[in-house]
Amino acid sequence: MSTATEYRGTGVVPGVAHAPAIWTAPRPQLPEHSPTIPEGGREEEVARFSAAAATVAGRLAERASHATGVAANVLEANASLARDKGWHKAIIKLVNKGVPAPQATARATDEFVAMFEKIGGLMAERATDLRDIRDRVIAELLGRPEPGVPAPSEPSILLADDLAPADTAGLDPTLVIGLVTELGGPTSHTAIISRQLGIPCIVAVDGLSAIATGELLLVDGEQGTIRLGVDAASATSLVEADEQRREAIRSWRGPAQLADGTPVDVLANVQDGAGAARAAASEAQGIGLFRTELCFLSAEKEPTVEEQTAIYADVINAFPGKKVVVRTLDAGSDKPLKFANMDEEENPAMGVRGIRIATDQPAILTNQLDAIQAASKGEPTWVMAPMIATVDEARSFAEQCRERGLKPGIMVEVPAVAVQAEKFLEHVEFMSIGTNDLTQYTMAADRMSAKLASLTTPWQPAVLELIAMTAAAGQKLGKPVGVCGEAAASPVLACVLVGMGVTSLSMAVAAIPAVGAQLAQVTPEQCKAAAQAALAATDPTAAAEAARTALAQA
Ligand code: PEP
Ligand code: MG
Repeated sequence: MSTATEYRGTGVVPGVAHAPAIWTAPRPQLPEHSPTIPEGGREEEVARFSAAAATVAGRLAERASHATGVAANVLEANASLARDKGWHKAIIKLVNKGVPAPQATARATDEFVAMFEKIGGLMAERATDLRDIRDRVIAELLGRPEPGVPAPSEPSILLADDLAPADTAGLDPTLVIGLVTELGGPTSHTAIISRQLGIPCIVAVDGLSAIATGELLLVDGEQGTIRLGVDAASATSLVEADEQRREAIRSWRGPAQLADGTPVDVLANVQDGAGAARAAASEAQGIGLFRTELCFLSAEKEPTVEEQTAIYADVINAFPGKKVVVRTLDAGSDKPLKFANMDEEENPAMGVRGIRIATDQPAILTNQLDAIQAASKGEPTWVMAPMIATVDEARSFAEQCRERGLKPGIMVEVPAVAVQAEKFLEHVEFMSIGTNDLTQYTMAADRMSAKLASLTTPWQPAVLELIAMTAAAGQKLGKPVGVCGEAAASPVLACVLVGMGVTSLSMAVAAIPAVGAQLAQVTPEQCKAAAQAALAATDPTAAAEAARTALAQA
């Protein structure tokens, strides 16, 4: 309706919800001036801090014991963070100088947060976790109620500046039916946990604080919109249509195909044997991306070929005789490995990461290929290299794979590869488009930045065009071109990708049913029309809208 006010953010979990807004409880404020603790009282003040931190850690651990899956892991990790020795030491040092415990907690946390943010990437995202623990400990010290999520008495949409894992993990999805935050990116904990709970979620919404508690909101997690003043009849019909969509997802079974029976290779992204086992129990037809670097994030030294073989065999054996695509180490940038990334770099996303490590340390790559060969037991496992930028890198990688009976491919994450896709494809058997990095490098925008979320969407016209060029090269040479970045997990975009000629879609297991259910409803012609419509648009919102309209037409 025309009187509706609209806010926009980045939609991270699809779904429509219509309910009143509630805000999280305020964070504790500290008085600007506080008296110094006299020497005689400092020991007691340290004890007060230790008791408060232990209480907070205990509460988080207690919540972890009632949670499952990612939520439980996140809460356990936060309980450990509340007990972190380095953090405690920094606070106690300040208290011993006379700073009261609440202020000491705030000051020491600021230093840790600054350090996390300087490291960037995944560490920067943990800053939210530590800030949350700080606020809980300070509230405890001040005798205030725990900050965070209120218990709503009716189904509500929860608004927050940012949500800490401790807030999101304990949510009841029957009462909190939508989540909207002013900060946070698509990979924040808020996004991860709301995905697990299936709560429609939008992050990075500018100006959210203007919405008051009690206002009736219509949230669309697919489009990333929050609308006020929508009339009841329109809201009800949108919520009902969404309920039908959710039911189609619940009842969908693979293998994935379009409405006319055309098969689509829908695969899983995994990071270890346990993930591969979950993928095997899902509707995935194989594995389209095994992120091997995530197995070694805490390794001090390079794992031996035997150790690597055992890990890779766990994944490969989960899909006997089926497609498993192993990616060689994408060490560096937001996923540094101690044994591979030797130098401090000013700009690690554009530094020595992925295949580039093999230039100075060729044995890291050859050892890994030996291990994949051993784990494959004579089967031609698909192997691809990340961060390829030159034809020479592709040719040399392919040679090393073929020597070991492996099927060589490359990731398309650097725009240079997309614009010359045919030249690269001549040397390899397949390509897989990593839309997360392809978007980051095409738009020159950090994929982890919440502020730049409107630039780092794969709906950006230039990104869509690069994907289409790569898919066309694959069609021309008769070689498979898949997508394994987050773009493949968006149901509407998945149809556009198929319409461009992409031959496989690889995504988190949790995303498969929604993509499968959407593919089942459209024909190849509709997918092609959606691709053309999206490619003709000049901005991401118009591209997504044009694709949706094309898919809705018979
Ligand atoms: C990508 O860049 O899209 C990709 C799949 O690789 P990663 O997210 O691991 O960088
Ligand atoms: Mg990548």
